[in-house]
Amino acid sequence: MRLADKIIIITGSGSGIGRSSALLFAKEGATVVVNDLHVENGTETVTQIEAAGGTAIFIKADVTEPEEVKALVDQVIAQYGRIDVLFNNAGISNVGALHEVEPEAWDRVMRVNTRGVFLPSKYVLPHMMERKAGSIINMSSCVAEIGLARRAVYAASKGAILALTKAMQVDYASYNIRVNALLPGTILTPFVENYLKTSYDDPIAAMESLKKRQLSGDMGTPEDVAFAALFLASDESRFVMGSPFYIDGGATFG
Ligand code: NAD
Repeated sequence: MRLADKIIIITGSGSGIGRSSALLFAKEGATVVVNDLHVENGTETVTQIEAAGGTAIFIKADVTEPEEVKALVDQVIAQYGRIDVLFNNAGISNVGALHEVEPEAWDRVMRVNTRGVFLPSKYVLPHMMERKAGSIINMSSCVAEIGLARRAVYAASKGAILALTKAMQVDYASYNIRVNALLPGTILTPFVENYLKTSYDDPIAAMESLKKRQLSGDMGTPEDVAFAALFLASDESRFVMGSPFYIDGGATFG
């Protein structure tokens, strides 16, 4: 198994890409720490993992709250003694050109998407540094690199994550810690379904137009991203450092 005996935290794994990654990681032998704001969704991920014969626990924490994130990390260390992989996946979106974005919406998206990567990393890193081993996977997006209409604050937050990934990699390479970023294109998850329903009169037509954004002519699935995350979490990617990893059906190059 590709992740045998690894202890892995995945933030925001009560839904979408996080849940698919949790299921796949557990299938590959990892003990998965499922984190989310929503208890019901997080425990459902654990239930699905256990039903498939895997090992997981749920820890509720808001990734923007230092005390909650520190408590999560402390609990994992107390229970398992180490953290091999941190997957900073939790994130929220916002639709609008910059003049339409309310200051509160700017703060909310930047807070969850960037502080939500900063805090788990801050509290996990000392444990990885002590062991001189670890892999951190940060969830960016292809919007960090391509212009996409009416995604101003979301693009800014995902661009920040890409820059942060590179800065982190430089600082922690000497501790044998790898830090890479995932840049998905449009992936059909509750996040995108909700966006289509709330932003368009005709969500089906909007979905067809979103598909055309990819060279593949389709949207990705959460599993497509989970397989890329699996590679970055595993020792197979030991020579991959500070990379932007595209899972976008060619959207970035189209
Ligand atoms: P999703 O909404 O299905 O899942 C996100 C999860 O994060 C939810 O379970 C939510 O409860 C959790 N979450 C939100 N705020 C949190 C907080 N403060 N603390 C803890 N958990 C929190 O979304 P998804 O599509 O699976 O997206 C996952 C990640 O992938 C996000 O960072 C998103 O920006 C990124 N992404 C998604 C797409 C896409 O097309 N779906 C494309 C590129 C990048």
